[in-house]
This record gives sequence, C-alpha cells and structure tokens, in this order.
Amino acid sequence: MGEATDTLAARWAEVRARVDAACRAAGRDPADVAILPVSKTFPPEVVREAAALGLSRFGENKVQELREKTAALADLPLDWALIGHLQTNKARDVARLASEVQSLDRLELADALHRRLKVEGRTLDVLVQVKTSPEESKHGLAPDELPAFLDRLRDYPTLRVRGLMTMAVQSDDAEAVRACFRLLRELRDAAVRRGHALPRLSMGMSGDFPLAIAEGATEVRIGTAIFGRR
Ligand SMILES: *Cc1c(COP(=O)(O)O)cnc(C)c1O
Repeated sequence: MGEATDTLAARWAEVRARVDAACRAAGRDPADVAILPVSKTFPPEVVREAAALGLSRFGENKVQELREKTAALADLPLDWALIGHLQTNKARDVARLASEVQSLDRLELADALHRRLKVEGRTLDVLVQVKTSPEESKHGLAPDELPAFLDRLRDYPTLRVRGLMTMAVQSDDAEAVRACFRLLRELRDAAVRRGHALPRLSMGMSGDFPLAIAEGATEVRIGTAIFGRR
C-alpha cells in the first residue's frame, strides 16, 4: 500500500489485471483485448518510464505533442496512435510520425493523409471514428454515413482501414454508455456483412472500459488509470 502502489509500474499492472478480469467476466480471452496507453499531456520522460516497463504503443490526441514526443524519444522503437480530432493541415506530420490514426471521420482528411502518405511512401492503419453519442462535443461520423464512407475509403490504397473507434456518452447511466459501445459493434458487424474487413473495435477508456469489453472492444484506450490525473 501507500507509496509502492502509486508507481507507474503498479498502476499499469493494476490496469492490465482489471482489463483481464473484465474479459473473464465477459467470457472473453484477455489476449483478444489490447490496451492502448494514452500518454497525452504527460512529458516524454514518463513515456520513457513506461517504455522501460515494456509498453511500446502510445496514444496521443494532439499533433504538436506527437511531434515533441517523437523527437524526444527517437532512440526508442515506439508506435504512435493519433486518437484526437485532426485538422487536414496536420496531415504531413501525421503521415511521417504516426503508425495509425483512430480518428478518421471525413473524406477531406482521408484525402489529405493519402496525398502525404504517397509522398512519404508509407501506409497508415486507420480506424473510422463514429459518433455514437448525442453529445455535441464528440467528433466522429454519423452512424448512417458509415456505409458510404467505408466504400469511398477503398479509393485510398495508402489507408489500411482496420476497424472503428468511438467515445461513449459521459454518463452515470451504465445502460446509456453500453448502448454506445453496442451500436459501434453492430455497425461493424453490418459493415463486415457488406464485405469490409474490420477486425478492430477501439472503445472504452479509464471510466468505462469494462462495459466496452463486454460489448466486444478489441482495444481500450487508457490514460488516467495508467498515468494519473491530467
Ligand atoms: C484522453 C482520451 C482517452 C483516455 O481517457 P482516460 O479517461 O484518461 O482513460 C481515450 N480516448 C480518447 C479519444 C482520448 O482523447
């Protein structure tokens, strides 16, 4: 207790144990649910400490921060996932520095990324962010726009569409939160029936990941529970 429990190593072990427990409770194999540590707002030294624990993939929501951290940690073999709303004028940095984007939500952005990726000679894994909650503040594609959007993404060979991402409504009502995750899974299942390969469902954060795992998340994005309060 006390000090020993408040280290990054202890918090990481606890989160992994809680994710594993949520998997077992849902009758799922813990090996099927990855954790994306979200290091946004924490300095490069903290990411370095996490890397020493064996973590090698991190989520960031701002391109400026991605730029600073990749520069400061260039000696480490890390992969970076962009999970925040992305302006098209940042496509150049993203195409150079990120290994994936989970917040693809419009064709204009797909177009900008594709053009820069061609220049870089790279491909990028992408998840399409869907707005499953009525909250104004949440970004993402409207659910009814998803089928046509996925079809159009076939025009961009540099973008490897791997799945869907969402943020649930912020609410104490577990059923309302769970409904967001369920909707994302149903949208994925419908798209798979239409011939899309979408193995990944990125959903669930520090406050709601057990519900997301129960609804089929293949990846939970955890910031606060690993790194502490921002
Ligand atoms: C910050 C953030 C997270 C992590 O949130 P926590 O509540 O700190 O775990 C997950 N997803 C997105 C898109 C974020 O911006």
